[in-house]
Amino acid sequence: MLLIRCPYCEEEHPELEFRHAGEAHIARPTEIADLSDDEFEKFFFIRQNPKGLIFERWRHIHGCGRFFNAARDTVTDKFHLTYKAGEPKPDITLMAPSAPAAWANREPAELNVDMPANDTGVK
Ligand SMILES: [Zn+2]
Repeated sequence: MLLIRCPYCEEEHPELEFRHAGEAHIARPTEIADLSDDEFEKFFFIRQNPKGLIFERWRHIHGCGRFFNAARDTVTDKFHLTYKAGEPKPDITLMAPSAPAAWANREPAELNVDMPANDTGVK
């Protein structure tokens, strides 16, 4: 069974306790009514959906109920790390496939941060 570490409970729990909540680090527009139809489409529907390492929102629905972010590999389904909502996006280069298993529980504060200027880290 796949185990996911909740950064709030600070424990690993079975995946059945969690719910996927979409791509992480989406910058929400402050004045959504001012967007053109094309801009709104891009914000609302268009996601990266890459093969490999991605950043996602998850919710510990049958636990503390809180949202958090995770770096997960879509090929191996391995969770490289989880971190609290609102914390900056970790440096993706530190999570290469050859990275040691110790990355799984590493705290984001220890990582180099490379966050785009418009990334608000919305929870
Ligand atoms: Zn939790």
